[in-house]
Amino acid sequence: MRLFDPHIHMTSRTTDDYEAMHAAGVRAVVEPSFWLGQPRTSPASFLDYFDSLLGWEPFRAAQYGIAHHCTLALNPKEANDPRCVPVLDELPRYLVKDQVVAVGEIGYDSMTPAEDTALAAQLQLAAEHELPALVHTPHRDKLAGLRRTLDVVRESALPPDRVLVDHLNETTVKEAKDSGCWLGFSVYPDTKMDEERMVAILRAYGPEQVLVNSAADWGRSDPLKTRKVADLMLAGGFDEDDVDLVLWRNPVAFYGLSGRLTLDVAPPGATHEGNSILRGAPNNPEGQAGTLSERVDPTGVPVSGA
Ligand SMILES: [Zn+2]
Repeated sequence: MRLFDPHIHMTSRTTDDYEAMHAAGVRAVVEPSFWLGQPRTSPASFLDYFDSLLGWEPFRAAQYGIAHHCTLALNPKEANDPRCVPVLDELPRYLVKDQVVAVGEIGYDSMTPAEDTALAAQLQLAAEHELPALVHTPHRDKLAGLRRTLDVVRESALPPDRVLVDHLNETTVKEAKDSGCWLGFSVYPDTKMDEERMVAILRAYGPEQVLVNSAADWGRSDPLKTRKVADLMLAGGFDEDDVDLVLWRNPVAFYGLSGRLTLDVAPPGATHEGNSILRGAPNNPEGQAGTLSERVDPTGVPVSGA
């Protein structure tokens, strides 16, 4: 079983998670830029974060055989903070980078005028850069939030078939599907969707243009939710082709709209910017003993300098 998690914040996760995800069948992820859980105070904080999503995090993922791409944007929450908004002027030079497969996550948090402005501006940036857009829908007042989101999409230069509306549930799926957008569902341990509800929605609305993600981050979340949905789909009467459509081919098709999706994982170098993932490894590349997969002793145990 090959799995693609199209929305996961790996920067908040451990190497144990990467290992477990690979063992479960995850071979590709997309990491949308978002807020840190606490406010940023300047655009420079975004730029270091964007650089880590473009360099360090793909390097970590490659050590575990997982292809990593990202989506970049000013997130909905921080669109309200005047200290952060100037990052919009820096975004164009980041959106041309090879690893960027969409503008996102953009959208509404509290549905403020500042969020209107940032959403419209970033949909325009997506159109100009020939990128699709990942649009977060609000967790409160979901149907009103979805309707307002779809209005802004309709007024934008981006056609709906290049837009993924995410965090849908039973109250928003029908109108989202009627809009012609791609449909994203985040499956969480406690809130929002769970596996059973997800499978019921797939049964009612079909698997076409549906993407399922874990949206795992620094909060209580589970990076193996894609596998758990796949298993429950099989137990619930879907066949392996349906699972492959929802959990592999649909995300490949959507992010493939960027023309930048590369699913072969190139063997990682020994270090990124002088850092290996092995604690205590020497800093000079000459002293490195190759990649993680090469640094296993005959018993298969990774050699760690920790
Ligand atoms: Zn997210």
